[in-house]
Amino acid sequence: MHGLRGDLRCHPRGLGAGGVSMSWYAPRHLDEALALLAERPHLMLIAGGTDVMVGRDPRAEGHEYLSLGGVAGLRGIRETSTGVAIGALTTMTEIGRHPIVCRALPALAASARATGAVAIQNRATLGGNIMNASPAADNAPVLLAYGASVILMSAAGSRHVPYERFHDGYKTTVRRPGEILGEILVPCAPPQARHYFRKVGTRRAQAISKVGLAALLAGGPGAWQCVRFGFASVAATPILARALAATITGTVCGLPDDEDLAEALGRDLATRDDIRSTAEYRRRVAVNLVREALAPWRHQGGFDASD
Ligand SMILES: Cc1cc2nc3c(=O)[nH]c(=O)nc-3n(C[C@H](O)[C@H](O)[C@H](O)COP(=O)(O)OP(=O)(O)OC[C@H]3O[C@@H](n4cnc5c(N)ncnc54)[C@H](O)[C@@H]3O)c2cc1C
Repeated sequence: MHGLRGDLRCHPRGLGAGGVSMSWYAPRHLDEALALLAERPHLMLIAGGTDVMVGRDPRAEGHEYLSLGGVAGLRGIRETSTGVAIGALTTMTEIGRHPIVCRALPALAASARATGAVAIQNRATLGGNIMNASPAADNAPVLLAYGASVILMSAAGSRHVPYERFHDGYKTTVRRPGEILGEILVPCAPPQARHYFRKVGTRRAQAISKVGLAALLAGGPGAWQCVRFGFASVAATPILARALAATITGTVCGLPDDEDLAEALGRDLATRDDIRSTAEYRRRVAVNLVREALAPWRHQGGFDASD
């Protein structure tokens, strides 16, 4: 029965005693979950539910969910020989407080703490944040800056996908039917790297970003070891700013000037006007954030590992 709890009757407020029907599968083991999903690839996976439940039409009949919340082995944070492995079901609260993340991946600790408010952070998972595939997801730019990869699992086996190739369109990913996101792998950052994260929104908490930037920077002009910038809310997907990185590493003496930064960003970003902001505002904020990320090299010619 794959941990099938059976059809439930749920009674959303305002719909009367009849309610609407839904099916809720709650496997305990990963093998069970994968077998069930292979048989029924249309099942809606649900982790913390903070996106799924908001998006669901409470009046529609026949929702079928596969809850990952009770599946053993999908949660937790561990150090590996090459970095940090984070189970897809690990919550923002766990990530934001975890000593390994706070020490090795401070930008991810910061983005987890900036995701919604405390009640959301207690339920929202890292896997759900990137599988929901919003271009505004707060943790996505950080995973891009850190050069993360993800493990997608199915009954047929597992595959490893670099996160920079994971989002293939607006709110779409390369996940195939029958696959569950199992783990997010984040490589060790170079020693002395600057880890940067900044979310610009209407407020500091409970606001979707107008622009989000994460950066991992190590070395310096003429000797860069690592220049990676991940952005949120500036294109149809979270993006890794490759033209910006090439402009910075290609400038051997000092840093590119603001005009060159803006020109490079113009090639990376596809900003648009929408309900939260304008394309022009986003472009200007993006340049300012890049300047802020690079500030230690502007002001001191050195680096600052803390942010
Ligand atoms: C009030 C409020 C405020 C919010 N604020 C923010 C914010 O500031 N920043 C931000 O980035 N987000 C925000 N969100 C969005 C949401 O909380 C996050 O995206 C969250 O991380 C989603 O995680 P979840 O576990 O709740 O995902 P769910 O809602 O359970 O799932 C989201 C999607 O991912 C899929 N999925 C989940 N887990 C897996 C898996 N392991 N494998 C395959 N598919 C999977 C689901 O099928 C679904 O499509 C907010 C939401 C609310 C309601």
